[in-house]
Amino acid sequence: MKLGIVGLPNVGKSTLFNAITEAGAESANYPFCTIEPNIGVVAVPDNRLSVLDEMYKSEKVIPANIEFYDIAGLVRGASKGEGLGNKFLSHIREVEAILHVVRCFEDSDITHVDGDVNPLRDIETIDLELIFSDLEIIEKRILKTEKLIKSDKSLIGELELLKTIKKTLEEGKTIRTLSLTDEEVKMVKGFNLLSSKPTIYVGNVSEEDVKDYGENNIYVKELKEHALKENAEVVVICAKIEAEIAELEEEEKELFLTELGLNESGLDRLIKASYSLLGLISYLTAGPKEVRAWTIKNGLKAPQAAGKIHSDFERGFIRAEVIAFNDLVACGSHSAAKEKGLVRLEGKDYIVKDGDVILFRFNV
Ligand code: GDP
Repeated sequence: MKLGIVGLPNVGKSTLFNAITEAGAESANYPFCTIEPNIGVVAVPDNRLSVLDEMYKSEKVIPANIEFYDIAGLVRGASKGEGLGNKFLSHIREVEAILHVVRCFEDSDITHVDGDVNPLRDIETIDLELIFSDLEIIEKRILKTEKLIKSDKSLIGELELLKTIKKTLEEGKTIRTLSLTDEEVKMVKGFNLLSSKPTIYVGNVSEEDVKDYGENNIYVKELKEHALKENAEVVVICAKIEAEIAELEEEEKELFLTELGLNESGLDRLIKASYSLLGLISYLTAGPKEVRAWTIKNGLKAPQAAGKIHSDFERGFIRAEVIAFNDLVACGSHSAAKEKGLVRLEGKDYIVKDGDVILFRFNV
């Protein structure tokens, strides 16, 4: 999963991104070697992995991971090529969802590019750049489709959608605020636009305000009201504290969070919110060689889920031996679960569930 961190200058993006890379550096065991400087990879926290590791005495544990892209450099006018505008916009095109960092902390030492702290104005500034960029693409596409439609009437639906989108953009609204049918969503994906990307607002608050998740912060209140209108999620963090947490060992981290009165780090909450925003779940594979979590879209059938491991698994899929994580733990071992008849044989129409521990059988 790829997430892009965007936001105006001086809102705390680099502080958050550095915390992410620091946290990522600690969790070794990645099947990656070269990571570009603007990409931070972190493990998706999943307590089930350590339980399975204990049960199988595995050689290694491989968590699912998320790639965070630091998409810095957005300024007013980016869509017109100001600053590194175009480069910035092309980076957004590559990510599946946007984490929009919004400044909700006061600090007279840290200047705001537009003079004062104002989350809604900041959101509008960024959204407008995405909207301008999308408008350009949509207008070109409308012209092209109008020509093609003369010989291909099947494009009528597409043209209508393009016009609806154009109208929305011209009203200064993002495409993600439109309610679309499943078919329209598919078409929009093909247009590869920016303002259609699912978005989480990250409210960056002070060390003081994060203790109650920004409950008493007026900017967070505004941000939440805005997000509600778009069905978007808000995650309140303090980037500075995230940076401190990232440097701690696991045990110290828990102590530190407890002292602050928090249950989870902001990063962990961000990861959870991203999973839920994108409709993702994890299934697990376990054996003496490795215990591993795999991220898939909720609703995938067994062969496609197997394809996540290897395309051969999907092509030659025969069946899946599935047991729910909780059943496996209750039985104590895979063989005990089998004796109790809790290991199910599922076919190609089985829809994989979060926490399924699966062994795929396939032909090569
Ligand atoms: P970017 O331009 O969006 O990448 O912003 P930076 O991460 O460089 O942060 C800009 C300034 O704000 C730096 O001096 C940070 O130390 C400071 N800053 C970032 N997050 C917080 C925060 O949560 N609280 C406070 N008080 N300052 C912060």
